[in-house]
Amino acid sequence: MKVGVLALQGDFDAHRKRLEELGAEVVLVRRPEQLDEVDALVIPGGESGTFLKLLGEQGLEKLKQFVRAKPTFGTCAGAILLANQVENPHQPGLGALDITIRRNAYGRQLDSSIRQAETTLGGDPLEMVFIRAPKIERVGRAVEVLAREGNDPVLVRQGNVMAATFHPELSEDKRVHAAFLELVRKR
Ligand code: GLN
Repeated sequence: MKVGVLALQGDFDAHRKRLEELGAEVVLVRRPEQLDEVDALVIPGGESGTFLKLLGEQGLEKLKQFVRAKPTFGTCAGAILLANQVENPHQPGLGALDITIRRNAYGRQLDSSIRQAETTLGGDPLEMVFIRAPKIERVGRAVEVLAREGNDPVLVRQGNVMAATFHPELSEDKRVHAAFLELVRKR
């Protein structure tokens, strides 16, 4: 099982390490053709607008096809890219998750923080590292909420696609990546 990590910008290396710890073979994806070599993809945090610029129209199109066919997990900026509706400001994306997501929704003071959430993944509450995090403001019927912080969904899944508004790769807890790899194995 080869898992790609989109390595255009952002904290892709922390995802690589975590996936390798869990036994996956990781490919750092820097060119669109490399998507043909992998069975699944992680889109890391960073700046979603910058991702769009770096991908270009062709890269975005190739990624759209990939996400339709194979398991994909987006964290933070990656979650923004996967959404079918983005606000603050409005921007295009992959339209793979039926959610409305608001960029930088927690404002300056709460810019970055570490919090805890109850999760359906089982076990203790989940530690969540938020960095200039977006907020999921609407989830469609097909979307399963796997963790919430207060009322806000922070970890969601729809079919093959998972997204977190926080950074599970920056916590010790491996449950979120393990859940994604489980999804990959099942497909
Ligand atoms: N604020 C970023 C954006 O809007 C996301 C931040 C992150 O990925 N940590 O794209």
